[in-house]
Amino acid sequence: MDADFLKRVRRADSCTGCGLCAAVSPGIRITAAGPGWARPEQIGPVSAAEDQAIAAACPGLVVDQRDNPHDPAEPLWGPQRFTGVGHASDPLLRHTASSGGVISALLVHALASGLVDFVVQVRADPDQPTGNITSISTSPDDVLTAAGSRYARSSPLAGLNDWLARPGRFAFVGKPCDVAALRARAKADPALAARVPLMLAFFCAGIPSDRAVGRILDHLKVAPGDVAAFRFRGDGWPGFARASLRDGSSRQMTYNDSWGQILSKEVQFRCKICADAVGAAADVACADAWYGDDRGYPSFEETDGRSLVMARTAAGLAVLDAARAAGTLATQPVPVADIIRMQPHQARRKRQVLSRLFAMRLVGRPVPRYLGLAVAQAARREPIMAQVKSFAGLVRRFIKGTA
Ligand SMILES: Cc1cc2nc3c(=O)[nH]c(=O)nc-3n(C[C@H](O)[C@H](O)[C@H](O)COP(=O)(O)OP(=O)(O)OC[C@H]3O[C@@H](n4cnc5c(N)ncnc54)[C@H](O)[C@@H]3O)c2cc1C
Repeated sequence: MDADFLKRVRRADSCTGCGLCAAVSPGIRITAAGPGWARPEQIGPVSAAEDQAIAAACPGLVVDQRDNPHDPAEPLWGPQRFTGVGHASDPLLRHTASSGGVISALLVHALASGLVDFVVQVRADPDQPTGNITSISTSPDDVLTAAGSRYARSSPLAGLNDWLARPGRFAFVGKPCDVAALRARAKADPALAARVPLMLAFFCAGIPSDRAVGRILDHLKVAPGDVAAFRFRGDGWPGFARASLRDGSSRQMTYNDSWGQILSKEVQFRCKICADAVGAAADVACADAWYGDDRGYPSFEETDGRSLVMARTAAGLAVLDAARAAGTLATQPVPVADIIRMQPHQARRKRQVLSRLFAMRLVGRPVPRYLGLAVAQAARREPIMAQVKSFAGLVRRFIKGTA
């Protein structure tokens, strides 16, 4: 019989694929399911204690930010001790990275300063270049090769026990849900917390399926077997989705086409109801500091990379300040009111979460518990007609079976 947490997550279709459950219980493993999502599969017994520990940290069931809550007056962007824009000082890192390379620069600084002994991060799978693996970085070169966003499933917590078996402290980079799950475990386990002094997240619009990634190859008229390397973006800002082929040639498409026309259309369900796409549980969260046009739409014209940077904890602020003082990165503060021009889609997503949870309730689906995330305050900022449309749209998709 399936573990209780698994039944609940399946009923809600709220798995993020983070992999935490596989680290907590040897009875669970992560596999690819459906159109290419990372999903838990029960392969052995899960004890009651394991089941409880997973349920307390699984971001498909709960995200609890009450110990560092959102300011109810500022419900869209999460806790902030510093908010600014910036970039890595190293021009190669800035260029290679996804936006301004601030995540990678923080990692380089954390290694150089001895704050951590290694970094746990996601990078391209050498055996299947459109996919991801989680691995260890111990040098600036390792961090450079892992830089860049990879819009495909990743389960960076599945290997947690392997990382913990190594000596030393490590920094962790993940999606907001990965970091929320690790933070929840760390709160319950001070020894784990002491091993991970730095958790970094990026804003996340959701994880597309493997099938969607395959559509990019189809669009580029490339057979999967011919791909030697694949980048979703980076090498410029935003950079191109680029397949480098075994014959030495390459094919590419713009970020606007790859994300806007293909990947964003096939995002897993949990991401569509995410109340923490901004990485509230991270020490530092980064995002694209897009330049908004006069109509409030971000511009995806190629230019020098620029990251939005939010230090959310005292530890995060200390690392950011130290990296800036060491010259590893540069930042300048921006007023929180400016963020909405850089991240209009994330603002709307947060304001509409509550209407989507109501739609889930209406059709009898359980919903994740979102605590300390100011979901109701965010909803009050959305015009009522937009709320109704978001609610009705999801109900309609449930009825049609396309949610
Ligand atoms: C699925 C996804 C959705 C995103 N959605 C948004 C969004 O809505 N708004 C926004 O502003 N930004 C989004 N980003 C993040 C954005 O692309 C940049 O990563 C962010 O601006 C940080 O840039 P950087 O230059 O500092 O990062 P870099 O220095 O390039 O570092 C990126 C880090 O992310 C890690 N990483 C890459 N892909 C994954 C993955 N799939 N799982 C776990 N770790 C990964 C890498 O290991 C690396 O450490 C998304 C990224 C991904 C992967």
